[in-house]
Amino acid sequence: MNKWVYLTQTAHSDMAQVLGHEPSLDEMKVTLGGKGAGLAEMTRAGLPVPPGFTITTAACMAFINAGFRFPAGMWEQALEALHQVEALYGKKFGDPADPLLVSVRSGAKFSMPGMMETILNVGLNDETLQGLVEFTENERFGWDSYRRLIAMFGRTAMGISDEVFDHVMEALKAERGVEDDTALSAADLRELVARYKAAYREALGQDFPQNPQEQLKAAVEAVFRSWMGKKAIDYRRAEKIPDDLGTAVNVVTMVFGNMGWDSGTGVAFTRNPSTGDKTFYGDYLLNAQGEDVVAGIRNTKPVAQLGDDMPQVHTQLLEIAGKLERHYRDMQDMEFTVERGKLWMLQTRNGKRTARAAVKIAVDMVAEGLISREEALLRVTPKDVDFFLHPQFDEKEIRKAKAAGRMLATGVNASPGAAVGMLAFDADTAEAWGNAGKAVIMIRPETKPDDVHGMIAAKGILTSRGGATAHAAVVARQFGKPAVVGARDLQIDVETRTVHVRGQVLREGDYASLDGAAGEVYAGEIATVVPDYEKETELRTLLGWADEVAADPAARQWPADYAGYPARGLQVWTNADYPRDARRARTFGAQGIGLCRTEHMFFEQERLPHVQQMILNADEAQALFDRQHRLQNTLGVGKEDGKPLDEKRRADLQADLAAVEHDIAASPAVKAYRGALEHLLPSQRSDFYGLFEAMDGCPVIIRLIDPPLHEFLPGQEELLVEVTDLEADTGLPRTETGKRLLAESLAEKKVLLAAVQKMHEANPMMGLRGIRLGITYPDITKMQVRAIFEAACEAAKKGIVVKPEVMIPLTGHVNELKVSQVDLEGVAKQVMAEQGITIEYKFGTMIEIPRAAVTADEVATLAQFFSFGTNDLTQMTFGYSRDDAERRFLVKYVELGVLPVNPFQVLDRGGVGKLVKMGVRLGRQTRPELEVGICGEHGGDPSSIEFCHMAGLHYVSCSPFRVPVARLAAAHAAIAHKGKVLE
Ligand code: PEP
Ligand code: MG
Repeated sequence: MNKWVYLTQTAHSDMAQVLGHEPSLDEMKVTLGGKGAGLAEMTRAGLPVPPGFTITTAACMAFINAGFRFPAGMWEQALEALHQVEALYGKKFGDPADPLLVSVRSGAKFSMPGMMETILNVGLNDETLQGLVEFTENERFGWDSYRRLIAMFGRTAMGISDEVFDHVMEALKAERGVEDDTALSAADLRELVARYKAAYREALGQDFPQNPQEQLKAAVEAVFRSWMGKKAIDYRRAEKIPDDLGTAVNVVTMVFGNMGWDSGTGVAFTRNPSTGDKTFYGDYLLNAQGEDVVAGIRNTKPVAQLGDDMPQVHTQLLEIAGKLERHYRDMQDMEFTVERGKLWMLQTRNGKRTARAAVKIAVDMVAEGLISREEALLRVTPKDVDFFLHPQFDEKEIRKAKAAGRMLATGVNASPGAAVGMLAFDADTAEAWGNAGKAVIMIRPETKPDDVHGMIAAKGILTSRGGATAHAAVVARQFGKPAVVGARDLQIDVETRTVHVRGQVLREGDYASLDGAAGEVYAGEIATVVPDYEKETELRTLLGWADEVAADPAARQWPADYAGYPARGLQVWTNADYPRDARRARTFGAQGIGLCRTEHMFFEQERLPHVQQMILNADEAQALFDRQHRLQNTLGVGKEDGKPLDEKRRADLQADLAAVEHDIAASPAVKAYRGALEHLLPSQRSDFYGLFEAMDGCPVIIRLIDPPLHEFLPGQEELLVEVTDLEADTGLPRTETGKRLLAESLAEKKVLLAAVQKMHEANPMMGLRGIRLGITYPDITKMQVRAIFEAACEAAKKGIVVKPEVMIPLTGHVNELKVSQVDLEGVAKQVMAEQGITIEYKFGTMIEIPRAAVTADEVATLAQFFSFGTNDLTQMTFGYSRDDAERRFLVKYVELGVLPVNPFQVLDRGGVGKLVKMGVRLGRQTRPELEVGICGEHGGDPSSIEFCHMAGLHYVSCSPFRVPVARLAAAHAAIAHKGKVLE
């Protein structure tokens, strides 16, 4: 017989019996869910936990898979456990004189705050209510509990809409002229119960069930069902939680925080979940039940004040907090209830926290000796690190906005960060606008779990009610969204979609700015700045540890014949085109430049005309050079078609050569071409000098020109329109000068148009680009190599340690390197000879074409390094256009599950990854010392970085802003694979 139900008091030992060994915390969570495991652990540690039992996650999956039916034996086991709870607590379920009441709550392995269902006070009916009232001598409390059960049960188990009960409540409060629920008297609540029952009957055509067991059964079913509810599914998608884990159900004896002013309930964190400071944090309410705190309906008190209201409880709670934090070695989020002065712990779990808090707590806990550096690194996610690289408001702009009276309100600083967007008054609007690419602030009086899809789509969240642990706050922190909650001055009217505040009115679609760290709300847009990384001491400490972990000389182990594979972990380099990017990346911890896309410099305004001049004349000039080379060649070898040249033929060829040389000297195209190259040389040289200077001591990989040349010219259509317009203008009367200028401009455009038309290719990404350009127009790449080495020599002479690496893009066949690399190296040597200095350098290639990966052993005969250009390699391996696929079918592919993720973001291990591994292996077979890295977008993606670690790359290279994330991911990979032989 399967064991579906565990009594909290004996869960640990019962699990040990089932498993045949002591259960680990993870095993407990898998079976009992996080909450069930927490209750069992707290009980074992001797903390005051109300008796209860947990129905397993496996029972939930069995229930769902059987078409929403309990598995055989489960219900009987639950009733048996209920009897044991009755015995432990000394009350009976359904006993009219002194009833046991229970709460029924979900609890999955990973906490999903507010995503699934909870029903409190199960077991109350017209009879047991009387017993409860008599026993507690508190009529108001009894009716209050009963009305809560009817509403929660009606909503959750029976699917009656929220508004039904909210309406009844609002109407009664209005009739009685009160604002707070607590102002309703016992008689009012009795009336409320009658009205709730009527509403229940009207909605469902049946009465609220009086049988306690029937209530319990329906409540358990509702919790199981909620695993498949839309909001839970949305949440799992966003958090990448598998669907087949299921949720456990916790049935726990009710203890009451609403039994008068010596009772209360609250949520507390052992450290501040927003800042990470080591201060007890949270809020509570006297004379209330847990839902009141979380729903944000009443204004909570900060938990620090508990010392005034209930000093003994406060001391005990602090002691328990310390104990739990030491036990779990992590910040805890605890729910507690005080029933007539007695403290009960209802839950503990590792607390959700902001990115800032995650980093601070991890670093502090190392200093406190609670956790190791590796554990600290694992406590922080790449997403957390990413937060520090995102915009915050510019202080000056904030001061200006305040001076201009644009600050609308303040609230609780629930989740830090700056958000600017258009106000959207409901989750669906927020989602629709967000999906349409608009920046949205979702504004609500309070949020509910149903709103999660809107919160995910929004840049920030703003509410007028609730506190630091309200739903909006918890979920915002979880998703790293800036949030201000409980901004009470805002009068939010969801019906008219307006918010009134201090005489101002904002409407849906108006812009607002939120400062989640300060808890401030502003009208309009406020400029943002990226945080000052240099001041983020804790983050830098943590990433320093990440580098140490990755630099461990025994981080990777390889089979014996894997010659040249690195034993240390990955380094993080950067893709940087300009010195300022390189400097920033270095501040962020980059240890080299893995890709400088030189062509980006060509787009600069003052250079583009020269680049265009170079392109427009390249063909004509090159045709002359090619003829000259052919003639020189034939004369040099003295043979033509295998036959020796006779005197006459030699004389003819010499005459031809003289004629070509004359043509070259006289050719305007050659003049323009050379002029353009001469113009570009010094600019490129100074670009490269700046890079060497910024990266003193580090390798700098500079890639030769790669994109199809038409990208530097205006578009064909644009030119056609311009030519047509100009032609139409020629008919208009104008002065002689006007005519001349018009004619010149028309001629110029026509030349451009003809060039663009000539260059047109059906598939430019598979056309004349990369190394093919270098072979077709060698003077361009030679100019670049000259610029690189002139800059390197100049820098070296000034004492800068330069390590230039020249990268040839898009190689597909080793012969391409034979033709170009040898010549280019010749230029490098010539420059060094001219400068009288020798510097360390490498020539290598990108591996972006499947053929290059497959023939990497041949390619490595020349290339001294490989850099995987996984953008193109993904494009060529899948045959998906990297420029179009995401706009067209790729999103659908991911939605349908045809592909698990977008392969342009996350490296496809099964296909592209195989090519990468093959390329590395073959390359190192030829050249064990081959340096290998990646410079496609995947170089900044954590999953792809892990793959690069496993594939034996030396480094990953990514954009500057992703460098810190990549450093953490490289450490995570090293920790995850330590001690394993990779291959
Ligand atoms: C690549 O293809 O992965 C690459 C880095 O080159 P680019 O994106 O410039 O084509
Ligand atoms: Mg590429």
